[in-house]
Amino acid sequence: MLLLNEALTNEIRAHGARDYPNETCGALLGLDGPAGDTGGSPRREVRALFPLTNRRDDSPRNRFSVTADDVRAAERAAAVGGLELVGWYHSHPDHPARPSEYDREHAWPWYSYVIVSVAAGEPRDMTSWLLADDRSQFHSEEIASLPGATARHSQ
Ligand SMILES: [Zn+2]
Repeated sequence: MLLLNEALTNEIRAHGARDYPNETCGALLGLDGPAGDTGGSPRREVRALFPLTNRRDDSPRNRFSVTADDVRAAERAAAVGGLELVGWYHSHPDHPARPSEYDREHAWPWYSYVIVSVAAGEPRDMTSWLLADDRSQFHSEEIASLPGATARHSQ
């Protein structure tokens, strides 16, 4: 289960709309909790975003992949706020909020992968996914909205 407050949800949606028709992408920084009553899947809370799109100039439309530099930069940003790198988000311009085959081939187990669908510039569905340990498929991860939460970590 991924806990995501309204402000961060809106931020991801806004990034998706801003970068349309290109994909937006970034890292999810937060706290990873123990698997409790969620059927063995982790319960983690996103506390801050680390956008990656503005660090790139290629801006491909359907090619979300994370580089080693991205991981290091996101981990540094997380550490500054006392957080962990818990996942990644990206947008699907004019495509459903489901992971593509390309996404699966470039994903890693453990991380949460949030996808927001942006249709004709309007952000729509938002989903989250966890890659199976054998990397054969994604499993849907529930997103739980937290109300309010005005606290924001600076990067
Ligand atoms: Zn994708």
